[in-house]
Amino acid sequence: MSIQTVNPFSNEVIATYPLLQPNELETKLQLAEQTFRLWSKRSICQRATPMRELCEQLKHRKKTLATMITEEMGKLHHEALAEVEKCAWVCEHYADHAERYLAPQVISTEAKRSYICYQPLGPLLAIMPWNYPFWQVFRALAPNLMAGNTLLLKHASNVPQCSQAIEHLVQEAGFPDGCLQSLLIDAKAANELITDQRIRGVTLTGSEFAGRSVGSLAGQYLKQSVLELGGSDPFIVCDDANLQQAVDAAVTSRCMNAGQTCIAAKRFFVTPAIADDFIQGLINRMQMLMIGDPNDDQTTLAPLARTDLRNDLHNQVLCALDQGAKNIIGCHIPDRDGNFYLPSILDNVSPDMGAFQEELFGPVASIIRVRNTDEAIRLANQSHYGLGASIWSKDINKAEEIALQIEAGSCFINSFVKSHCALPFGGIKNSGYGRELGVPGIQAFTNIKTVWVQ
Ligand code: NDP
Repeated sequence: MSIQTVNPFSNEVIATYPLLQPNELETKLQLAEQTFRLWSKRSICQRATPMRELCEQLKHRKKTLATMITEEMGKLHHEALAEVEKCAWVCEHYADHAERYLAPQVISTEAKRSYICYQPLGPLLAIMPWNYPFWQVFRALAPNLMAGNTLLLKHASNVPQCSQAIEHLVQEAGFPDGCLQSLLIDAKAANELITDQRIRGVTLTGSEFAGRSVGSLAGQYLKQSVLELGGSDPFIVCDDANLQQAVDAAVTSRCMNAGQTCIAAKRFFVTPAIADDFIQGLINRMQMLMIGDPNDDQTTLAPLARTDLRNDLHNQVLCALDQGAKNIIGCHIPDRDGNFYLPSILDNVSPDMGAFQEELFGPVASIIRVRNTDEAIRLANQSHYGLGASIWSKDINKAEEIALQIEAGSCFINSFVKSHCALPFGGIKNSGYGRELGVPGIQAFTNIKTVWVQ
């Protein structure tokens, strides 16, 4: 059994890797556990030294790493560069702040002294997706290594090069061997690992389907878990929004990374006063997107990561059209090599359609026409997902009132949704549970221990 790197632009097979044998996996598991015993004893300040070096390595090698990301999963080269830079930032962030985020907290009780401290749990399994093949991993790696855990990385099967490159970077930054190990294994082997008593927690970013499977197994084996799953984020444009800014943000959010972002705006709610102008703005901007070689600076819309994912997306679009949505632009596969999908707008999308309820992981905007913002809020919440939301209005008080009524892990006003190292990131409902980043991101896989001194 093997896995392959296939270039999404040329569909050329670039490399083939054998899957790990059970005995090799066992050796890695043993190493993760041995290293945990050493690593967890080091002070946070000691852990910060290789973390800062990792930050420097990422900055130093960003061009090579970005080229590899683009080759393996197809994103635009400048987007890949930005991704590597963001990884450097999260390393620096946790190197700077871990001590404060994990500082023991004295709680006053009737004891002589009582406090809470945060201790690492042990080896963790990180199951990661291909859409941000560096960032998704570093978002888990930086806080968890700083907390004193070790990590086994089961990356998506289409990004083995990225997976191995991350392991090399961590080694070269001076972390002890076994702090982070890349496992070229399939989902079945990952599930078996969850059942192993040496694995003390599992973090997954991926689809709702994978989340249900991993979450139920983690529950069965009583493992701590964080699930960062899909989303169908609402983007609510109020009558008084700055339309130009809203249109620009809508296109960026929906089409960056070829639309393959969990927190991309996917459902656009528009009221009658601005609907036509907003949609016209969207059409103008989306029609300007140029598909082509993701390494070419002229290209503004990358191919999708895999052919099967592109075909699945097209089927979702066809299904929406069948159910009564209106094709405004795009909605088809261009006649050329590579996993491209044309920038597309579906109008008159309604809650009974798949395009409303499912995650559309590509450059397809679904327009939902509403009578007023109350209806927008009601329909925005009529989703199984609850990851992010974006609200556009010049009246900040009104926008904040809307934000507080939206069922989502983050609400951004007059901005598209993005992750920030200092702020918790994650969802509710079928978008998963637990939080990454910020303080909760480093405490997620710790033993929050109560100490009582009588
Ligand atoms: P998956 O959820 O299948 O893959 C994500 C990761 O989970 C991969 O490492 C995958 O391994 C692993 N995995 C999948 N199933 C299981 C399982 N049962 N047990 C353990 N690990 C598992 O996503 P796909 O790549 O198939 O993409 C399908 C759709 O998922 C996308 O179109 C998109 O809608 C959504 N998605 C959302 C993401 C997000 O950031 N919200 C990220 C990626 C996908 P392997 O690659 O070996 O199967």
